Amino acid sequence: MPFKSSQPDIKLPTDISIWDWLFNSPSSVLNKHPASALGGYSNALTGERLDYAKVAEVTTYLSTALVKEYGLKQGGTVALFSPNNIYYPVAMLGTLRVGGIVSGASPAYNIEEMTYALRKAGAKYLMTVPTSMNVAAAAAKNAGIPKERVFLLEGEMDGYTTIKQLFDIGKSYGESGQVPSFKIPKGKKNKDICAFLSFSSGTTGLPKAVMIAHQNVIAQVLQVQLITPSDLQRILAVLPVFHITGLVHALHLPITINAEVYMLPAFTMKDLLDTVVKYQLKELLIVPPILIRLVRDPLVDKYDLSCLRRFSTGAAPVSEEILHLLEKKFPETRFKQAYGMTESCSCITASLPDKYDWKYGHTVGSICASTEVKVIDLDGKELGRNEPGEILTRGPQVTMGYLNNPKATAETFDREGWLHTGDQGFIDDEGMLTITDRLKEMIKVKGIGVAPAELEDLLLGHPKVEDVAVMGVKDDYSGELPKAYVVPKAGVEGDKQLEAELKQYVKERKVRHKHIDGGIDFVPVIPKSASGKILRRVLRDQSNKASKDT
Ligand code: AMP
Repeated sequence: MPFKSSQPDIKLPTDISIWDWLFNSPSSVLNKHPASALGGYSNALTGERLDYAKVAEVTTYLSTALVKEYGLKQGGTVALFSPNNIYYPVAMLGTLRVGGIVSGASPAYNIEEMTYALRKAGAKYLMTVPTSMNVAAAAAKNAGIPKERVFLLEGEMDGYTTIKQLFDIGKSYGESGQVPSFKIPKGKKNKDICAFLSFSSGTTGLPKAVMIAHQNVIAQVLQVQLITPSDLQRILAVLPVFHITGLVHALHLPITINAEVYMLPAFTMKDLLDTVVKYQLKELLIVPPILIRLVRDPLVDKYDLSCLRRFSTGAAPVSEEILHLLEKKFPETRFKQAYGMTESCSCITASLPDKYDWKYGHTVGSICASTEVKVIDLDGKELGRNEPGEILTRGPQVTMGYLNNPKATAETFDREGWLHTGDQGFIDDEGMLTITDRLKEMIKVKGIGVAPAELEDLLLGHPKVEDVAVMGVKDDYSGELPKAYVVPKAGVEGDKQLEAELKQYVKERKVRHKHIDGGIDFVPVIPKSASGKILRRVLRDQSNKASKDT
């Protein structure tokens, strides 16, 4: 029997879109709170702010402009290529309001990476910021997006329409001229309509666009709401909001609990600490590398962080050592953790409020409401409590599959609705999940997923490389780093010079977290199965043995 949640089931509306649910339903924040008490999105550094009534208003104008002036259709995709910024959720919600699809991308991408993301998502519009315009403009051109459909979320640049100009265009149609909000078509449910395309490498291969339905987001918000403490009124958005964790927890959830979101465009320790103190934040949602910085960075000692009640983490494993150090340094502060993936629209498990305790730090929490977890062995046999195996999950937050990739979809989402996570773990006697290993290829660098196949494809294109396999190696700070095992072409010496050359080659072509910072080993052959699949386990065991022998 699968493991079930101990929480009551959520009451999930099945025929409403995200925008209507947030702004145009009886449960909307706009109906539950007076205008003067509404939360909103704030720029943590400048104080610029939009409350949720304003967000509802400007997203209406924006969507009207996009439809009437620029021809956005239901199912049309708008790519957002920007650091965290208060106009990001506006662009997102404006697109969703008229049935468009939002695809977020890392603002650190280079032209090649961004072109890939735009093409894979089939984006027809792009919204960005001046600092990313060089890459955005070139990638848009490569992907066939005309310049008039490249918009600015902030700032001004010659030849580009800004989001504020789009608001004005929309507003000029008058109250009766606004495009009505999108309704789920007859015969369909909100689980059938894609709202987001977010990238993940899944269990194997290149990054794929995960189709996230309106229902997935609504379900996940309701699941998280159930276990959100009532003191969470001020939320820091320092994790990138293009990633599923930020998207749900820093953009959607806050509206439904009328919280204020403080947006930081990029992580610096000083900005983070200043923001915590200035706004007296009670909870910090951060990835493990930032937890490590909180322990080690001397700057932290200059701040009075007694307002903090909880650290909240996820997206990658956190080590026992860091947990101990954190507890020692912040004995009054509690700890919570969540586990999930893009394919499960964020959380599968999360700490329950009565378990925000360091002693549970090695677990990733309890099963979310309306969610089941099954643990299976290599033969697919279901395992019991305390027996580690692959984690499968089923629930309303499990997404629709990969866009235009039925093969990968069938491999990861089975016919009975189970998502195969590619993670290994077990459920303990208290119903909490512990992750013991990652069975899939994905490397996690500072919480960001890196697809080995992407780096292997790149390195195979280098004239001195005969064959290559890329894997993650443990790193104290980043969690993992990509490491390459390279077979040089006949007659080529696998030496320090070639190592430097290959590292540089990747550096010039890929965003920072994909750099081969785990080093390069030159090997005579890459172990492969009869069908040509890289035997990563064998390679990992060989490499572990070699490092023990030296
Ligand atoms: P992503 O789709 O980028 O969110 O990556 C999802 C993957 O991150 C999961 O399948 C896990 O391998 C890993 N992950 C997420 N949360 C945790 C956690 N709390 N502890 C360990 N690994 C995690």
